[in-house]
Order: sequence, then structure tokens, then C-alpha cells
Amino acid sequence: MEGKMRAQVFYEAEVMKLEMIDIPKISDNEVLVRVKATGICGSDISYYYGHSPVGTADGKGPLVLGHEFSGEIVEVGALPASLGLFKPGDRVTCNPVMQCNACPACAEGKFNICSNMVVPGVTVNGAFAEYCKLNYTHVYKIPDSMTFEDAAIIEPLACGTYGVKKLEVKPGEFVVVFGPGPIGIMMVQLIKASGAGKVAVVGTRDYPLNVALEHGADYAINVKDTASPNYSADVNQRIAELTNGKMADKVIVPTNSKQALQDALTVSGAGATIVYFGLPGADDKIEVPALQTIQSDKTIKFAWLAPLVWPTAISAVGNGLVKLDKLVTHRFSLEDAEKGIQFMKVGKGDKLKGLVVI
Ligand SMILES: [Zn+2]
Ligand SMILES: [Zn+2]
Repeated sequence: MEGKMRAQVFYEAEVMKLEMIDIPKISDNEVLVRVKATGICGSDISYYYGHSPVGTADGKGPLVLGHEFSGEIVEVGALPASLGLFKPGDRVTCNPVMQCNACPACAEGKFNICSNMVVPGVTVNGAFAEYCKLNYTHVYKIPDSMTFEDAAIIEPLACGTYGVKKLEVKPGEFVVVFGPGPIGIMMVQLIKASGAGKVAVVGTRDYPLNVALEHGADYAINVKDTASPNYSADVNQRIAELTNGKMADKVIVPTNSKQALQDALTVSGAGATIVYFGLPGADDKIEVPALQTIQSDKTIKFAWLAPLVWPTAISAVGNGLVKLDKLVTHRFSLEDAEKGIQFMKVGKGDKLKGLVVI
């Protein structure tokens, strides 16, 4: 499609400009999506403030950020067209992590650790713009009942789905979730839908903890705010009380809190599985008491991105197992995307997920 579009172009730390740039030209294996909504991810905030380099060759802009998005197909490349897979007007959610399909990791289906991945909004222009292009293998049609806003945050849900899949929840288990951010609350719902008996969520602010309770969590534990009715000075003691001393069967850590990385080891019981998720700092460490952890036969795993779980995430929302609408607390226009990033940076009050609605 010829023409120009509005896009928010990131240049360097704290410099982003609304500009008119060319609409992306698609090749035979791509589709062009008219963007409807794009999530503001923690990583967008970190790129914007220069806390981590973008994924371009030199780690610098100009680059259109935004990798969590949904929209409507407006142009279909020759290959998907010949296969009859998509047509203009199709409503889709977009998986931005496009693997190379040729490296050793890809050859084993481990697309999340592909060494040559292309990611709109990270390595190439993304979706804080009116249009974005993708390989046809990375767009999924969404049910009519799914809103574009929900569809925009299937990406973080898919990442959460992969983490919960690795947790291997069994019916009746006691699960602890550290961090009631948007992904933590998505995980609570997936964990309950997987058959967990009780889920306890650990956080530092009552607002998201209460949203977690509304979304199926059984217990909220506020480890910071002494004025909170959910306050507990000792998370280990609280989990011990709730489990009659057995401690948690499964623990997942969708937060970058160093304290949570450590507490996950102590709230988990013998035979437990821990999944580390979140994005800690490059130099952060987890100190594992070796002998004690070995003798309690624990399993420690890590989860990164969302390989092979997109259909699961989409159907979890389509079937009502996971509700996303209350997780979006703030909406911004494309013009205000930069303000939105600045606003969402400070995590307090009633903030959960911000969306740029285009
Ligand atoms: Zn993201
Ligand atoms: Zn690869």
C-alpha cells in the first residue's frame, strides 16, 4: 500500500517524535495490519528511558516502538493470498517474535531462543504507528467476541501462558504468585483454570492485589504497606499458616523484585517447582542454598517469551477463562503515546496496563 502514516519514532533516550513516515511495503510472505491497539510494555518504557538498548544493529533509533498489538488486515502478500489464509478485514492479534527457522534453536522448535529473531518494535519498526507489517505465520485471527483491546495484550498473556505451562500445576495445589502486575494477574487466572486449589498473590500495593483477588486469587499478601489489611511482615510465616506448614507446591515470579527472587525459594515446600519469569537487572543474582534445595528435591525453571502457546492464550480469553478488560487501566491516543510511556513508568495508584488506541 502506497502512502504515508503517522508513527511515533523513538530517536534516543527520552526523545520520541510523531512523524509522517512511509507505510511499510510488504513482501510475498507478509501481511499489512492497520493497528487498532498497542500495549505499553515495561520493555517499551525501558527502551524509551535508555535503560536498555533497542534491538537494532547499533542498539539505537530511529525506531518505532510497540510490540504488543492487534488490528485489521489491509493487505495480504502473494503467499498467504495463494493459500487463502487471510483477506483484508480479518481481525487479528500479532505475535511479534519472528524466528529465523534456520538456527540450531529453531531447528528444535525453541523459537524463543532463536539467535536471529526479528521483532517489530524491538529490532524493526513496530506498532506505535497506524500500520505495521508481519510474516503471515505470526498473525492469528481472533473470535468476533474479542475486542481489539483484549487482542492487543494477547502477547503478554502468551508469555504468561508459557510460564504457567512450565509450572505444571496439578489439581488442588497451593500456588504462590509474586507480583500482581498485568501478567501476574493473567497468571492467577490461568493457574486457577489449570486446577490449582488455592492461589496466594504477593505484592506491595493493595490496588493490584485487590484486582488479583477479583480475578480468582484466594489470598493477597502485602509485604510493604503496613496500613494494608493484607499486610504481613513475614511472607514465609504467612504461607506456612495458609498451608499448615507444608509451604507452596508451585511458585511463579513475574516480577523483577530481588526480594521476590529470594522469597520464592523459601515459600516453596519440598518437591516444589519454581518458575522465574520477570526481567531482573543484568547483574541481579538468585542465591540458592544448595544443600537445602537439593535435599528438598526442588525444581527451578526459567521462562522466556511465548513459543507455541498463542492458540492456547487466544482460546483462554475466547472461552472466558481469562478476563483482560479490567487489566487495562489507562488509554492514550497515538499523539499521546510518549506521555503514556512517561505516565506508565511510575507504578502506583490504580495503574496496571496502558494501551495506545489508534
Ligand atoms: Zn511486551
Ligand atoms: Zn532461529
